[in-house]
Amino acid sequence: MTNTLLILPGDGIGPEVMAEVTRIIDWFGARRGLKFGVSEDLVGGAAYDVHGVPLADATMARAQQVDAVLLGAVGGPKYDSLDFSVKPERGLLRLRKEMDLFANLRPAQCFDALADFSSLKRDVVSGLDIMIVRELTSGVYFGEPRGIFEENGQRVGINTQRYTESEIDRVARAAFELARKRGNKVCSMEKANVMESGILWREVVQAVHDADYPDVELSHMYADAGGMQLCRWPKQFDVIVTDNLFGDLLSDVAAMLTGSLGMLPSASLGAPRANGRPKALYEPVHGSAPDIAGQGKANPCACILSFAMALRYSFDQGDEATRLEQAVEKVLADGVRTADLMQAEGATPVSTRGMGDAILAALDASL
Ligand code: NAD
Repeated sequence: MTNTLLILPGDGIGPEVMAEVTRIIDWFGARRGLKFGVSEDLVGGAAYDVHGVPLADATMARAQQVDAVLLGAVGGPKYDSLDFSVKPERGLLRLRKEMDLFANLRPAQCFDALADFSSLKRDVVSGLDIMIVRELTSGVYFGEPRGIFEENGQRVGINTQRYTESEIDRVARAAFELARKRGNKVCSMEKANVMESGILWREVVQAVHDADYPDVELSHMYADAGGMQLCRWPKQFDVIVTDNLFGDLLSDVAAMLTGSLGMLPSASLGAPRANGRPKALYEPVHGSAPDIAGQGKANPCACILSFAMALRYSFDQGDEATRLEQAVEKVLADGVRTADLMQAEGATPVSTRGMGDAILAALDASL
C-alpha cells in the first residue's frame, strides 16, 4: 500500500519546523525503505494570500484522500484584522469539521532530560507517558440551543451539553483501540454525579467495553477528581477518554506536566477510510509563534513527534515511530537544546536546523 501524506506548513514558524520534518521523512525513505507519496499545499494565512481563503477547495479534497495530513501552524498578526470567515484558523477548523475528526489524541510524555521543566516534582513526572483522548466534534461547544437571550429583564447565556450514543460509542472505541497498543488501561472521565449526559457517557463506555474490549482494564472517574489525580500522581493513567469540554481542560493540564509547548504533538482521527486507515490530521499543539518566526529559533520537536504519531497511527509503523521518539529523547539527553528548552545561563542553544541535524544523526546512530 502506498503511504500518502499531505504537508501543510502554514504560517509563522510552521514552514521552519516542517522543513525539519521533511528531512526526516526523506531519511525514512532512504534508510528504512519507507516510501511516502508526499504532496504539499497551503493553509491559513499563506493560503489566504494566494487564494483569498484560508483553505482552498482543492486542498480540502486532497486532505480527504490522503492517509495523513501533517500541519505546521496557522495565524499571525498580519491576518488579525481579517473578517472572521477568512481568518487563518478557519482553514484548520474546516479540515477538522469536513474530515469529521472526532477523536483528538494529546499525549503527555515526559522525557527524562526535561523533567525539571515541569511544575511538578521530578519523581511525579519522570517517565510519564499518558494519552488523553478528547471527543472533538460534539458536546457543549456545538449543542443547541446556544446564545445570549433576554429573560425577565436580564440576559442569559446558554450552551447545551449534548451527546448521542453513537458519538460516545465511536470515541470510546478509539480509546480502547489505542489502549491495546499501549498499556491496555482506559480511564473514562465525566460528571455522572451531576449531569445526565455524563450518566449516558458512563453507560455507553461501559457497554462498548463489555461487548468488545473486555481485555482492556476500564475505570471511571469524575472529571474534577481526574484533574486532581493528574496533578497528584499522573503515572496511574494510561489512556484517558473524555468529552470535548473536560478534554479541553484536562489535556492542557496534562500538557503542562511535561514542561514545554515546543515538545507537544497531537493527532485528530476520524472514521476509517476504504483502505482501513482512519482519516487523520497530525499537528503540533503550539501556534505560529510570530515572536520568533523567521529567526531559526523554533523547536521542531513537536512537529517531528507529530510525524512519529502518524507513523504509528496512520502507517502502522510503531517500531519506526519508537525509533524516532528515541532519537529525540537521545538528543535531549545529550544536552542539545533549542532556546525554549534552555535553563542554564550562558549555554548556547541550537537553531531549528541544528536540532534537525542532531535528530538525524541520532537516527543514523540507531541503525
Ligand atoms: P504560540 O503557540 O504560537 O506561542 C506561544 C509562545 O510559545 C510564544 O512565546 C512562542 O514563541 C512559544 N513557542 C510556541 N511554539 C514554539 C516552538 N515550537 N519553539 C519555541 N517556542 C515556541 O501561541 P500564541 O502566541 O498564542 O499564538 C500565535 C498565533 O498562532 C496566533 O495567530 C494564534 O491564533 C495561532 N495559533 C495557531 C494554532 C494552530 O495552528 N494550531 C494554535 C495556537 C495558536
